[in-house]
Amino acid sequence: MAQTPVLNMAKKFFIETFGCQMNVLDSEKIAGNLCCNGMEVAENPSKADVILLNTCSVRDKAVQKVYARLGELKRHKNGRKDLVVGVVGCMAQLEGEKILQKAPHVDILAGPQKSQGIHSLVEQRIHSGLPSVDMRSNENPGPLEISQIRRGSHWRASVTISEGCNRQCTYCVVPETRGKERVRSSRSILMEIEKLAADGYIEIMLLGQTVNSYIDREGGNTTFAALLRRMAQINGIERIRFTSPYPSDFTEELLEVMEVCSQVCNHIHLPVQSGSTKILQAMRRGYTREGYLEIVQKIKNSKRPISISTDIIVGFPGEQESDFEDTLTLLDAVRYDSAFSFKYSPRPNTEALKISGAVPEEEKSRRLEILQQRQKDIQFQINEAYLGQIVEVLVEKRARSRVSLAGRTCNNKIVNFNGPETLIGHFAKVKIEGFSPNSLKGAWIQSKALE
Ligand code: SF4
Repeated sequence: MAQTPVLNMAKKFFIETFGCQMNVLDSEKIAGNLCCNGMEVAENPSKADVILLNTCSVRDKAVQKVYARLGELKRHKNGRKDLVVGVVGCMAQLEGEKILQKAPHVDILAGPQKSQGIHSLVEQRIHSGLPSVDMRSNENPGPLEISQIRRGSHWRASVTISEGCNRQCTYCVVPETRGKERVRSSRSILMEIEKLAADGYIEIMLLGQTVNSYIDREGGNTTFAALLRRMAQINGIERIRFTSPYPSDFTEELLEVMEVCSQVCNHIHLPVQSGSTKILQAMRRGYTREGYLEIVQKIKNSKRPISISTDIIVGFPGEQESDFEDTLTLLDAVRYDSAFSFKYSPRPNTEALKISGAVPEEEKSRRLEILQQRQKDIQFQINEAYLGQIVEVLVEKRARSRVSLAGRTCNNKIVNFNGPETLIGHFAKVKIEGFSPNSLKGAWIQSKALE
């Protein structure tokens, strides 16, 4: 029988994660693979034998951040010749061996969906002394079913339901880095969630690039909404979140499940990107301003109040002042609970590079500032209405602010309050006494366990 070579002693690793929630889960999968093969987690980078940067390539800023970090690690490596440095994830896939030219001290390169081969790459590197490379390709995309996951929380878990994307938004590198969409079977997803519930997990976040386009064709054409409905029946699962849905794939069936299943959180992140139909067409988003607003209206007419957040890009090529005005008036029409807004960042190999009418950097910054101020005012008004209300939060962590804890309401409001750390991972009732555009502040009244 072929023997898997083992490292002589327990090597320690440290993963630094950049980017989205899918990357956070990928890091948990990489950690699972390394721990299952005898490695241990280092407390911090200085105690690690292997440092992995799990990267993002959605914006140039994210890529430059990684190169800056690689510069720091080069200095660190000068005193530690045996230190292994790896770049994994989307940037590794997009930049490829260019990374080895710019940063020859990098030992490992691996694309996304390659988490289960990372230990072998570390071993290869240690034994051969040469860089180890494993990129994702459509012919060899890596497994979808992964059981080696070292979770960062004992009460909240993310679960991949699909990987990759079949859309072709003209500004986006994801179809190139993560490939065509592949979906897991609903049977396997539900089995994983049943196991998580049995292990005490109470909140599940479903992940997919366009999560709501999910359909299990071999599993009785199970739709995304049907999957949610079945998850809501699993004992112990109290909160179900998902990200990110694609506006055109938002269905009446999904809205109905969100109305009737209290476990499905009453918050939806619905990336709009622009309020101008002309720009949406140039982005190839597949919906118009009017179509998007119709979906929002349906959500607002729902029997259960559902909060809405979004992503917005300003300064896309060809965006004129009137298009930008359309985005501002869309903010007023929707009144998002929160919005992630960015300046357009040209990405390699994307069709948007060929679109004329580049918006100068300074103008992009001006528009972003105006947009963020408008959105801040809206959030201020929305959050003010919570004053005096008693909300239920699932306590997540110690807060960064002067109060001790931070939790989240079902509709995704961040609530800071004072209370014992033993509340982390449990529900608590909090009376809201203060607010800012981004969070609420309150006084702890009772935890669910005490009721
Ligand atoms: S839907 Fe568009 S923006 Fe989202 S991952 Fe796919 S191509 Fe990128």
